[in-house]
Amino acid sequence: MSEPHIAIIGSGPSGFFAAEALLKSDAGVRVDMFDRLPTPYGLVRSGVAPDHQQIKQVVKVFDALASNIKFAFFGNVEVGSNISLDLLRSRYDAIILAYGASAGTPLPVPGSHLSQSITATDFVGWYNGHPDFTRLDLSLDNDSAVVIGHGNVAIDVARILLSDHARLAKTDIADHALEALRRSRVRRVHMVGRRGPIQASFTTAELRELLGMPDVRIVVDREALRLDEQEHAFLELPINAAIKRNVDVINAAAARDCSREKAKELHLTFLASPVAIEGSDRVSAVQFVRNQLEGPVNDRKAVPGTWHFSVLAGLTIASIGFRGRPLENVPFDTRRGIIPNVEGRVMGEALHGAAPLYVAGWIKRGATGIIGTNRADAGETVRKLLSDFREGRWPVKDDRQRVNVPLMSPRIDFADWRRIDDAECRAGRESGRPRRKMVSIDAMLEVAVRGREGAATPETAA
Ligand SMILES: Cc1cc2nc3c(=O)[nH]c(=O)nc-3n(C[C@H](O)[C@H](O)[C@H](O)COP(=O)(O)OP(=O)(O)OC[C@H]3O[C@@H](n4cnc5c(N)ncnc54)[C@H](O)[C@@H]3O)c2cc1C
Repeated sequence: MSEPHIAIIGSGPSGFFAAEALLKSDAGVRVDMFDRLPTPYGLVRSGVAPDHQQIKQVVKVFDALASNIKFAFFGNVEVGSNISLDLLRSRYDAIILAYGASAGTPLPVPGSHLSQSITATDFVGWYNGHPDFTRLDLSLDNDSAVVIGHGNVAIDVARILLSDHARLAKTDIADHALEALRRSRVRRVHMVGRRGPIQASFTTAELRELLGMPDVRIVVDREALRLDEQEHAFLELPINAAIKRNVDVINAAAARDCSREKAKELHLTFLASPVAIEGSDRVSAVQFVRNQLEGPVNDRKAVPGTWHFSVLAGLTIASIGFRGRPLENVPFDTRRGIIPNVEGRVMGEALHGAAPLYVAGWIKRGATGIIGTNRADAGETVRKLLSDFREGRWPVKDDRQRVNVPLMSPRIDFADWRRIDDAECRAGRESGRPRRKMVSIDAMLEVAVRGREGAATPETAA
């Protein structure tokens, strides 16, 4: 009997963790992994902040997997445009969609279309050298910026805006971003969230790092730090220890002497929602309404009050969540921005011959959780896929009947990627950095193809 041949769409953590679970199983599967970029690793390369190199070490696990002879990488192949999902379904036995959910959510307020009103997706993609964002229209020519959102991505954004240039110059931040940040006039970042410190979704290590930045004066909205009796009791519950640690870190920062002049400032503002972005052609200010919290202490909602205030700023970055994008002929939950599924099996799937669809990672559960969360998540999906297989819910195609799938773009295999990786790391070493990223797909393809020693790489999935 032929071996089950599984395609994974997306080479981020969830795609690689799904490949790991498949290859470690006793089902004898082969795995082909597709990514729209020539570079693998998804948000580990293009999301995780450049000054957090330690976190990127997870790719060593992924690299080891890629050398398994039953694994093949098809980089630079976008499913839905360079190749159709329907074709892949007639070629493979089952498909895992692991293509992430990193589309930004723009602010739902008047003025969000103005120049210099961007999302965290844009800004993070820009400083991390994602080819989609290298030409971002960004001007760091005003001394104030507003970051909206109180999560870890907002922290990354604020920290990069306020970081000392010499510190960033030791990272793998994209060259264009390093140069723009060297010339940046941004001195003050307002990080604004709609609820209070108890509801913010920071993790303590990231918060401590931000509030402990040297040369950055921290100005905390003290009013929001006054807690009522119920809130104090809530924080004392052992289950809320992490929230309490955050509140303690914020209180400690607020208590620090902030009269001393520092080169830069971070204003941490709670209980405020943007109502409009002001400006004629580009952002000049953001108007906020002050909120009150209502509801039970473990589920307080922000309710707008009547007091409005404005913050002058030349740039606003919305970090209010990420969403997945739909793929043709695949069910999609537009409200949650995910593919509806039960334990990873896509809902509403009629299993008539075409390969069944499964999902893993952010496109399965939404944009929550850290890299490690995707391991258990992908494990659940693979368990479902394999139990469906063992129960005979989908057949394995005869190899002679598998159609070859023509790719509409030059395919990058893992050896090609290693050449790109080598070239980036070599360029990095010459300037005392972990790597200097290539940010154009053409440049990546040139390095990949130049090193192929004349061996033709098949342009079909086989
Ligand atoms: C700014 C930011 C910073 C973060 N920092 C950290 C951190 O410090 N530590 C931590 O643990 N977690 C961090 N995370 C969370 C972590 O990155 C995610 O949990 C994880 O990347 C989600 O994995 P995924 O595989 O589901 O999606 P992704 O990582 O987004 O991977 C999806 C992949 O699919 C590809 N793709 C998309 N569409 C197609 C298509 N049509 N065809 C083919 N391929 C396609 C993409 O190119 C991408 O490679 C961060 C997230 C963000 C946004």
